[in-house]
Amino acid sequence: MADLKNKIVLVSGGARGIGAAISEAMAKAGAKVVISDLLEKEGQNKVSELLSQGHQASFIKHDVTDESEWKKTVSFCSTTYGGLDVLVNNAGIYFTGPIEETTLEDWKKMFSVNVEGVFLGTKTAIPEIKRRSMKRESSGSIINLSSIAGLVGSPSHGTYTASKGAVKLFTKSTALECAALEYNIRANSIHPGVIDTQMGSQVIKNIIEKTGSGDNEARAQVAELHPLGRFGRPGEVAQTAVFLASDDSSFITGAEFVVDGGLTAK
Ligand code: NAD
Repeated sequence: MADLKNKIVLVSGGARGIGAAISEAMAKAGAKVVISDLLEKEGQNKVSELLSQGHQASFIKHDVTDESEWKKTVSFCSTTYGGLDVLVNNAGIYFTGPIEETTLEDWKKMFSVNVEGVFLGTKTAIPEIKRRSMKRESSGSIINLSSIAGLVGSPSHGTYTASKGAVKLFTKSTALECAALEYNIRANSIHPGVIDTQMGSQVIKNIIEKTGSGDNEARAQVAELHPLGRFGRPGEVAQTAVFLASDDSSFITGAEFVVDGGLTAK
């Protein structure tokens, strides 16, 4: 199992779903974890659960679209634990709709969370991460949650795919820039298939609305999209994030990690 002792990790959108699973897996691997999210109650509950298991974790309320809140959140990591080594840009939103019916307001909302949130997080965290990573052999790590929707197109997913495609290439540029500047910070993206979270349930709801099929039928349809024949579990994405945070992935930067049960291999 990867060792994250001596690592301080910030997970945006860590109150539920994939972010909560990543926070838990990082804490179990020995990291000090800061969970940030709009959802205060869920975030506090997750922290209480981790503390009761003997792990180190804290919560801060945070809107990833707000630059001043990013500054507060990154400095909270420093005042609470003494710095920052790993940023997981996980917070994201999802909705679908034909391009012709998508309003500019919807488009901007998606980009504000899924793309500007990642940009602001990366910009704010790099100075703090490099403060520690440049003095150590162990590298800092930025892990961005893209999606299979950042790799392939899909009808009615124009806005979401555009936002996740942007995350994919922004990650590569971050990786190359940090390498060129010798910051000792790696950056990689994760591309999950459909994962069993509230966002995953939205995918099912959309199928039900579109086709009139029942819940079980729609779930089976989504499961069958994946050659492994099922949804992914949040913990399966979390293990990839732990690997990318750890020194086990010390020669990996600018890479795409597909966690999709084979969906995009077809
Ligand atoms: P989720 O909806 O269950 O959780 C998302 C979390 O992000 C929530 O806790 C939410 O409060 C938080 N969040 C949303 N907007 C925010 C904001 N402005 N500021 C701070 N926090 C905010 O979703 P999930 O399934 O856990 O997805 C996590 C990430 O993985 C997202 O980036 C998503 O796009 C990506 N992803 C999910 C799937 C999937 O099938 N579930 C597939 C591919 C990629």
